Amino acid sequence: MAESMQGLHRTCRCAEVAAEPAGSQVTLMGWVARARNKGGIVFVDLRDRSGIVQLVFEDGSIDHEGFEKAGRLRSEFVIAVVGTVEKRLGAVNPGLVTGEIEIRVGQLRILSESQVPPFPVEENSRTKDEIRLKYRYLDLRRPDLQRNLMMKSRVAMLTRQFFAGEGFLEIETPMLGKSTPEGARDYLVPSRIHPGSFYGLPQSPQLYKQLLMCSGYDRYIQITRCFRDEDLRADRQPEFTQIDMELSFVDVDDVIDVNERFLAYLFKEVLDVEVPLPIQRITWQEAMDRFGSDKPDMRFGMELCDVSDLVRDCGFAVFTGALEKDGSVRGINAQGQGGMPRKKIDKLVEFARGYGAKGLAYIAIGADGARKSSFGKFMKEEEMDALVSALDGKPGDLLLFAADKTKLVCDVLGALRLELAKQMGLLDKNEYRFVWVTEFPLLEWSEEENRYTAMHHPFTMLMEEDLPLLDTDPGKVRAKAYDIVLNGNEIGGGSVRIHQNEIQEKMFEMLGFTKESAYEQFGFLLDAFKYGVPPHAGLAYGLDRLVMLMAKTDSIRDVIAFPKVKDASCLMTQSPGKVSPEQLEELGLALAAENAEE
Ligand code: ASP
Repeated sequence: MAESMQGLHRTCRCAEVAAEPAGSQVTLMGWVARARNKGGIVFVDLRDRSGIVQLVFEDGSIDHEGFEKAGRLRSEFVIAVVGTVEKRLGAVNPGLVTGEIEIRVGQLRILSESQVPPFPVEENSRTKDEIRLKYRYLDLRRPDLQRNLMMKSRVAMLTRQFFAGEGFLEIETPMLGKSTPEGARDYLVPSRIHPGSFYGLPQSPQLYKQLLMCSGYDRYIQITRCFRDEDLRADRQPEFTQIDMELSFVDVDDVIDVNERFLAYLFKEVLDVEVPLPIQRITWQEAMDRFGSDKPDMRFGMELCDVSDLVRDCGFAVFTGALEKDGSVRGINAQGQGGMPRKKIDKLVEFARGYGAKGLAYIAIGADGARKSSFGKFMKEEEMDALVSALDGKPGDLLLFAADKTKLVCDVLGALRLELAKQMGLLDKNEYRFVWVTEFPLLEWSEEENRYTAMHHPFTMLMEEDLPLLDTDPGKVRAKAYDIVLNGNEIGGGSVRIHQNEIQEKMFEMLGFTKESAYEQFGFLLDAFKYGVPPHAGLAYGLDRLVMLMAKTDSIRDVIAFPKVKDASCLMTQSPGKVSPEQLEELGLALAAENAEE
């Protein structure tokens, strides 16, 4: 029978015992990670969230009954022990903080027993995801996940501490409310009291935080949950956490300044990593031109090079054809990859096709300088020389070219650049390279909807000098929007907001809202702006992604206690689930699908 812990008080956690001098008495509680019965002596690794310590049970040091009980211990039993800290007699374990000591146990209580767990609770588990997620409460006992969640807790604590020190107020905004357009579908919550009406769960607190600025709170922060019903994508979560902020009387530089000091503080405190300030800034245009991506990974070079002018009159129709259609020809240099076997190059071509390219042209330069090329026969020698020198091709390099519409060329080479970096081992998880990407386009043309949509959201301010372009060439208008990018991941983004009613109305017009429809959705914000609105700007980080990078793991699920899988379901609780007909009736809802079946 499970014993109680009455009369016992835990003196410290398992790994904290390392700080106790030999000879001290400790009371520890935790889970049995491993039990080894060696006849007259039983060794147990005791685990809690701090780590592991070795327990020794020896007939004589503990009474005979206690020793027999120790013999029954199995993995995941929860126990309490009272014992003495001793220097290890056997081999020390340099991999453990407690590797030089052990606890000689004088008293043992079994607080609860465990069935044989469906998988071993161990670091870097190789058990299938589905099983681990079904038994998430066991999975969460694994030391790597425990470290991640402890790190996340610390990041949240330091975030609050830092921003409080900068005069930010933490203010809650509703979960049941009117949702903000952030480009995804809303999760809806039906109202019982107002049958037929729905709340939207927030895709972000955007509207509320702007209203808080109107109300004079001038620096707001919140660590809050956001909900986005997006199409299925691996490693996306329908609910996730943002560090969300908004500031009054500021422009781009002010937001960037406080945030880069925050990042430097956070990385120093949590990882002991120095982030050199100021963080580099590049414009969106430059990011696209140089890296083919608006979230460039700056840990390595391999920059895109526009060679359109060098091939304008060449004899290779793929190149000239793309240029005639206003496209471009660009290349990258995969240094030292000139010896890549043909099969592997073909794989890269396949990869590029996955991104919409019709093909890839290449020049492989041998160690002796001899060139092999997929299109050399269409080119003059000097044209080939010019291409090689434009890409700074040296013996042993592989030059890859794409020709098409410029956007597609950038996408393809941007993706290829990353793929090659992966293959070439250029992505060091211990290196943290930040970059601000600024001056995003304000609008994006949507082929589907045949109209402009907001690239960030409809409240984003444009660069003052681009105001005249709004009427003449809207696609060229740059926004006062910025993203903070870490190792090729967008970890945060924000913008200066429109605080002038005329510009906001114009913006809605561009986005295809009528005056009425804009009012219907955002009337309260537009009204608020009539009563004295300060210039304001803000930013939000994806906390989960940020911690994922800090914890050097590849999956966002590793930093969320109870994550959902790709189809937005939870394997442990089996949510979402059906509800009773009574519940539906109360809400005034009927299921179309079931009615159809009847
Ligand atoms: N609300 C924006 C987002 O969720 C961030 C911001 O503009 O502050 O991406």
